[in-house]
Amino acid sequence: MNNTADTIIVGGGIHGASLAFHLAMRGVKVLLLEKSFLASGATGRSSGLVRMHYDLEPESRLAWVSFQYFRDWKEKVGGECGFTRTGFLFIPRREYTSSMEANIAMHQRIGIPSLRVTAQDVHRLAPSFAIDDIEYAAYEPESGYADPSQATQALADAARAHGATFVQDCTVTGVIVTGGRVEGVRTVQGDYFASVVVNAAGAWASNVAQMAGVKIPVTTWRHDTLFVKRPDEIRLPHPTVIDYANSMYFRPESGGLTLVGLEDGNPLGQSPDGYTDSSQPGFVERAIERICKRIPALESGSLYSHHGGYDGITPDQRAILGPTGPEGFYLVCGFSGTGFKIAPAVGASMAEWILDGQPATVDITPFKLERFEVGEKLVGDHAYEDIWH
Ligand SMILES: Cc1cc2nc3c(=O)[nH]c(=O)nc-3n(C[C@H](O)[C@H](O)[C@H](O)COP(=O)(O)OP(=O)(O)OC[C@H]3O[C@@H](n4cnc5c(N)ncnc54)[C@H](O)[C@@H]3O)c2cc1C
Repeated sequence: MNNTADTIIVGGGIHGASLAFHLAMRGVKVLLLEKSFLASGATGRSSGLVRMHYDLEPESRLAWVSFQYFRDWKEKVGGECGFTRTGFLFIPRREYTSSMEANIAMHQRIGIPSLRVTAQDVHRLAPSFAIDDIEYAAYEPESGYADPSQATQALADAARAHGATFVQDCTVTGVIVTGGRVEGVRTVQGDYFASVVVNAAGAWASNVAQMAGVKIPVTTWRHDTLFVKRPDEIRLPHPTVIDYANSMYFRPESGGLTLVGLEDGNPLGQSPDGYTDSSQPGFVERAIERICKRIPALESGSLYSHHGGYDGITPDQRAILGPTGPEGFYLVCGFSGTGFKIAPAVGASMAEWILDGQPATVDITPFKLERFEVGEKLVGDHAYEDIWH
């Protein structure tokens, strides 16, 4: 294989694949290098929620543009992404009701289908839910979840069809920098050359940044999830939910399953190569107790499976995007446990930033690394608490 490309992408998760797709569509010769196999990192462990409810406008904009890819995947990308529309409920803590209403107004202004619903509406949408603690919730009728591994594969297939090359089992061990410019990378399979190198290495992003002499505030975030089988009386699917009141999210899965993740108890700073084939001790008990508060009939459900995963997380729990360090070096990392649903729009916007000098699909310049250097954090106008605590 020719060892020269226009752009080298380090990392074959959903973000590496999305950027490869968007660059290849514009005629760029792309080489993506993945140390293991496609979607072997956070992407393959992701719960796949596709919703637009954020308290930060640029994130809602990214999610809204991306949602339209998930909805119209066949026409926009080709292949399948497994998008399943379930409707999405955001159940706030009572003290955040007015913030939620302001955020719904922001979402509606962008064009996102979102509305405030009452506890009785929640009961109609999801008769199995306990609603005694709910006054109002936000509802997105179009949202749901997708299959992150399938979406990554489809993006990779489409990128390859437009000339991109993907090399797996290929760990990048160094970034070649000469005279302040990137020239390529060193890998276990030899050197590859390009004038643009993109760090899309997920939980390993700090390590790859260091290879280019760049320090980034990205540490690791461990997250466990489980699937529980619903008993026959509640076999029908329910909406996808962020149950902020119970520090939890959940969604239906095919086969009468419900997936559950918790917003608390996600350790930071572990090795990203830790064991993920099962969850950490104590997680299953905590998650079952939590989900049974919202869906009491799950007391007679049964545990199906559980596992963990690692993503990169930043101090404000928002991504780091854009050029930094040596000329030609770009960051697409720090997705902080919520990056799957925004990957199509991030890839489109990053391709514009690299090729045209500025993003156009969505203004992603607020996500620059420099915000941390001047002590700033990205915070919504009507902010909730950090999602992970
Ligand atoms: C359990 C879990 C549940 C989640 N649920 C959701 C959700 O419901 N909705 C949502 O939007 N987001 C969710 N997320 C977050 C989302 O999955 C991630 O933000 C997203 O997948 C990150 O994609 P990525 O491509 O940046 O990273 P990854 O998928 O981690 O890809 C990075 C890749 O880089 C490769 N790599 C690393 N170092 C090197 C190197 N030196 N050389 C070559 N390759 C290298 C890795 O092997 C890896 O494949 C979840 C995350 C986890 C862990």
